[in-house]
Amino acid sequence: MAALVAGNWKMNGLAASLGEMVALKDALARQPAACDVLVCPPATLIAQAAGCVKGAFALGGQDCHASPKGAFTGDLSAEMLKDAGASYVILGHSERRHYHGETSEAVAAKARAAWRAGLKAIICVGESEAQRNAGDAPHVCAAQLDESVPQEATSANTVIAYEPVWAIGTGRTPTSAEIAAMHAHIRSSLIARLGAGGKDMLILYGGSVNPGNAGEILGLPEVGGALVGGASLKCDDFLRIIAAVNPA
Ligand code: PEP
Repeated sequence: MAALVAGNWKMNGLAASLGEMVALKDALARQPAACDVLVCPPATLIAQAAGCVKGAFALGGQDCHASPKGAFTGDLSAEMLKDAGASYVILGHSERRHYHGETSEAVAAKARAAWRAGLKAIICVGESEAQRNAGDAPHVCAAQLDESVPQEATSANTVIAYEPVWAIGTGRTPTSAEIAAMHAHIRSSLIARLGAGGKDMLILYGGSVNPGNAGEILGLPEVGGALVGGASLKCDDFLRIIAAVNPA
């Protein structure tokens, strides 16, 4: 399975930012990526972005509601994201878990909604700094996986993102040995839970990935790509991260 480098723009980007998408499309036409590329802009930009990038890379949402439609003011369904041009949706990002009280059970319901709409779910897990310091990171992530990843998950419909909360947007990352150990642990948890379906499911690393550290992180065992926040906002930085993926 090809590696995936995914950009999470979070709540950043106006119509003027579509220029970054066009620049990315043009650059990938000149120098094709050795991995799959995904950008998850704010939902307001997905349809316009789809018109600009014309399939040069995938587009995704950053959250969805579990229901296909209904009286849920302010929410968006997975079907709406798909209709706008998305093929992925990020679910259970730590900012959603923290600021919106999203539980792992809610994330599992959203994953099923994503599949119902024909989207791939990127399910995020990761420990807080206190949990890491207490030696609880493996246990916390395994519990989040158990509760957030439905039993029907396969490598065709789901990607896992390991994102230590304390590394997101801080410029701090775990050591390479720590990332490799967590990815190995996540792989065995997925296999224990899903059997063969867990063997080749992509596990992305996310948390302060930048052009300077991408090569080392992306070369680690069981790291199937990266989920990139801040460094995905500028096409040049994002391209340098994409270029750090070694051809399979
Ligand atoms: C993220 O928000 O998923 C993320 C990894 O952010 P950053 O790369 O800015 O740490």
